[in-house]
Amino acid sequence: MEPIKKGLVVITGASSGIGAATAKLFASNGHPLLLLGRRVAKMEELQLSETMIKGVDVTDYTTFKAAVLEAEEKYGPTEAIINNAGMMLLGDVATQDPQEWKKMFDVNILGVLNGMQIVLPQMRSRQGGTIINISSIAGRKTFGNHAAYCGTKFGVHALTENAREEAAADNVRMVTIAPGAVETELLSHTTSSEIKDGYEDWKNEMGGVLNPDDIANAIWYAFNQPQGVNIREIVIAATKQQ
Ligand code: NDP
Repeated sequence: MEPIKKGLVVITGASSGIGAATAKLFASNGHPLLLLGRRVAKMEELQLSETMIKGVDVTDYTTFKAAVLEAEEKYGPTEAIINNAGMMLLGDVATQDPQEWKKMFDVNILGVLNGMQIVLPQMRSRQGGTIINISSIAGRKTFGNHAAYCGTKFGVHALTENAREEAAADNVRMVTIAPGAVETELLSHTTSSEIKDGYEDWKNEMGGVLNPDDIANAIWYAFNQPQGVNIREIVIAATKQQ
């Protein structure tokens, strides 16, 4: 089977957590990178070679696309995109600010669709490439105070699988990675301190969660199969997580 090329890898949400760990892993394996996120300084701190960094909000299709085209001009066609940027704003549907739902749907769903459409035409026309979308175990089962977040992540599974069916004949792979709890900045944006404290207690009772490198390794595993092998989905969580 055709091997995977050391081509350009686009990573959204590369300024912290899973995205930053994934950037380090792909860079150490010789891939040129385009790193996207709003906090440019945090991506620069990674100090990775052969890397273009752009301050891009993934909900802005125009600047997102311009960044990808500029990187492709320099490094060649996108070999893979990892649509990782995401927000988790936990809350009770009865009381949560609807603006928080909108923020999550904009980033977690529309941001992912933007990334897919920006790279898909070239991948389909050259008959290769990989799209990896980061969902969550909350895209497979529900948890208290997660209604809107689960809504976005269940959606990531659906849209990835649907797009995979559309592009499969053109040899484009689509992968959904669904992590359980991982130690990152994700929870910090939730506004209710009561919910945040409850989440921290749950993590501690469980005896620890995954670290971002665990997810980077799962992404690498899926990507690093031959192009003829599509790992469609990986659900990965701490052994003690329910
Ligand atoms: P972090 O909060 O550490 O990282 C989130 C990243 O997304 C940041 O780099 C942030 O960059 C970026 N981001 C957020 N909004 C935007 C935006 N509008 N445009 C561009 N970038 C944006 O959390 P994680 O690393 O944990 O999250 C990564 C992914 O993993 C998310 O999709 C999350 O839902 C998923 N996940 C995480 C789990 C966990 O327990 N941590 C479990 C399951 C899934 P910046 O602020 O610089 O824009």
